[in-house]
Amino acid sequence: MQSVTLPASLDEAVAALGAMPAAVPVAGGTDLMAAVNQGLLRPAGLVGLSRISELRGWHYQDGHALLGAGLTHARMGRPDFAALIPALAASARAAGPPQIRNAGTLGGNIATAAPTGDSLPVLAALEAELVIAGPDGSRREIPVSHLLAGRDMLEPAELIGFVRVPLLHAPQVFLKATGRTGPGRATASVAIVLDPARRGVRCAVGAIAPMPLRPLEAERWIASLIDWDGERGLAPDALAAFGEYVAAACIPDQAPDDGGEAPPLPPAVLHLRRTVAALARRALGRALS
Ligand SMILES: Cc1cc2nc3c(=O)[nH]c(=O)nc-3n(C[C@H](O)[C@H](O)[C@H](O)COP(=O)(O)OP(=O)(O)OC[C@H]3O[C@@H](n4cnc5c(N)ncnc54)[C@H](O)[C@@H]3O)c2cc1C
Repeated sequence: MQSVTLPASLDEAVAALGAMPAAVPVAGGTDLMAAVNQGLLRPAGLVGLSRISELRGWHYQDGHALLGAGLTHARMGRPDFAALIPALAASARAAGPPQIRNAGTLGGNIATAAPTGDSLPVLAALEAELVIAGPDGSRREIPVSHLLAGRDMLEPAELIGFVRVPLLHAPQVFLKATGRTGPGRATASVAIVLDPARRGVRCAVGAIAPMPLRPLEAERWIASLIDWDGERGLAPDALAAFGEYVAAACIPDQAPDDGGEAPPLPPAVLHLRRTVAALARRALGRALS
């Protein structure tokens, strides 16, 4: 490795990347150094983001929180952050063992864009936007879903600076299945966000596809059943039907081309569908309770 630069500001970091096109940014290093150690990556230089204090906190703007990309999972898991964005705090608390949560950052989780990234379904349900920093102090905003879909990918001298998240002041839940006890990568995860002002339920399912899936019809259907001005509770059979609706939307039956009856799903896929249904049912039940 040729050089390591430790800029003190976001714009200095962008300039360092511009001056050294073969260098890569590193935040907590939990993903990047794993790739280096496995011999998958040999960067010519590193631009470290860990000394950029403006990326490690958050501030408020027009009913939104602007979260610095350098916020660690450990910081987001703390009670003051959980009071603001409960589902993101819950996903941060679930993101690996303590040493990973102490170092790993929100920006790294997004840039890596692994299907199992725990923050990703939460950001999809919140319809978060990314503030991308570019050369000469430029900033542009893109929906997080665009970056995860591979469109509007970052240019080499661009960095994720901030994540703009609406403050909804309503219950949010993140649940994750790992297929094992203790910390582990998600086999499936579900984020539920209530948006009472728009009388909406937003749901995203993580880990079962390259990017989080939004079951929009299931969201609209269940939102229409909720008494938004009353107690907001739902009967158990409605919660169960929502879980099934979400799961079938995300893991559909595979109808043959001739229009005949769909064959039964393979056992592992059926198990995954049941897991998603259970997570969605429980997450909505908790959000409404
Ligand atoms: C043992 C282990 C367990 C894990 N368990 C989980 C888990 O349960 N859930 C989970 O979600 N993740 C898990 N992870 C993955 C990892 O910890 C997270 O993805 C973490 O959030 C990455 O952040 P980082 O700061 O360490 O990223 P880094 O490793 O520093 O960077 C990752 C990538 O993002 C780029 N990057 C970093 N910051 C920026 C930025 N601001 N702008 C543009 N590009 C940037 C880097 O160039 C690199 O390509 C685990 C990792 C390990 C090693």
